[in-house]
Amino acid sequence: MTATRTTYLDNAATTPMREEAIDAMMPLLSGSFGNPSGPHHVARAARAALDEARESLAAVLGADPGEIVFTSGGTEADSLAVCGVHARRGGTVLCSSIEHKAVLAAAKAVGGRPFGGTSGATASGIVDLDALRSELDAGGEPVSLVSVMTANNEIGTIQPISEVIEIVRRSARQAVVHTDAVQAVAWLDVADVCREVDLLSISAHKFGGPKGVGALVVRSRVRESIGPILHGGGQERDLRSGTHNVAGIVAMAVAAQYAAKERDETAERASALRDRLESSVLGRVEGVAVTGSASPRLSCTSHLRFEGVEAEELLMLLDRRGVAASAGSACSSGAAEPSHVLQAMGMTPTEARSCVRFSLGRTTTKDEIDIAIEAVVDSVATLRG
Ligand code: PLP
Repeated sequence: MTATRTTYLDNAATTPMREEAIDAMMPLLSGSFGNPSGPHHVARAARAALDEARESLAAVLGADPGEIVFTSGGTEADSLAVCGVHARRGGTVLCSSIEHKAVLAAAKAVGGRPFGGTSGATASGIVDLDALRSELDAGGEPVSLVSVMTANNEIGTIQPISEVIEIVRRSARQAVVHTDAVQAVAWLDVADVCREVDLLSISAHKFGGPKGVGALVVRSRVRESIGPILHGGGQERDLRSGTHNVAGIVAMAVAAQYAAKERDETAERASALRDRLESSVLGRVEGVAVTGSASPRLSCTSHLRFEGVEAEELLMLLDRRGVAASAGSACSSGAAEPSHVLQAMGMTPTEARSCVRFSLGRTTTKDEIDIAIEAVVDSVATLRG
């Protein structure tokens, strides 16, 4: 029996690590294994690697090295932003209704809420700026933090962060602006976004780094507006206690450097492949719609709705043919709950359950896309037949 070849189209869930990042982390797991907070030469070697990683990551993000706070990933960076500002400043936390659960749940935990309620997005997958404006203008308890993601993890739509900032600066000057840029680093120049916002989250495994490591950029102008959520030895300028994951941090910095260097070329290749996937599927399968097609989108994401098809069944058939895709965010796929993002855009639960996300990555090839196209065409025909 021939083994089924894997066609990996779930890069928004996680990406394969870059060889360069693996190579960079190995020496930190063996020879230079020290705790960077220690006093001796073994510790100093680890400290030097950590400092160098901090500088190179800061350069990619357009931040100062002192503004980088290393975390255990995107979820912790988001929690630190939301809960850390709330711990220091109190007030109301507002976020968009299409945030990742890492922001939505953190906001809920501190009594915050999505602006525009559970339907605060347009049908094309963009946050409802009018809802934000009216919440901020309504008065009441001062808003301490507004969080809007740079690009959505399920449908890939790029959010109007500059406009969000303009609205917040005009109507709630005291509010800190956070963006979850976890999905954006491999595809957009995040330095442009970082320049404007106060806090920005990233996660290494979305751009060729290891899982379990990320960072929150804390612009120095808001350093006094945020407190720690983990208490202990006072690492990361008292904002994130805990022994550093030096190997992971070094690998993340290397992955970020390569991602930035290759970004334009990778994005151009991915968008051509994504267009090939969409035009072929739309041309050969009836009743397919591309979610968010009227909005600016990351070039890696193709989110398709197949009328009358259960996404879970389609994903199972695709998987049997070696095609790995997903129904949305990794945390909620498999759960019966329809996506909160799609419902915020006005889809019914049935419509939301008929959507599949194909997310391309730097390693995606034309052959893989062609395999995926055939698998989608056949599998949808089987399900509808
Ligand atoms: N934010 C977004 C937009 C994501 O897509 C993810 C992961 O899917 C996270 C946060 C959580 O990141 P991590 O897996 O590093 O905790």
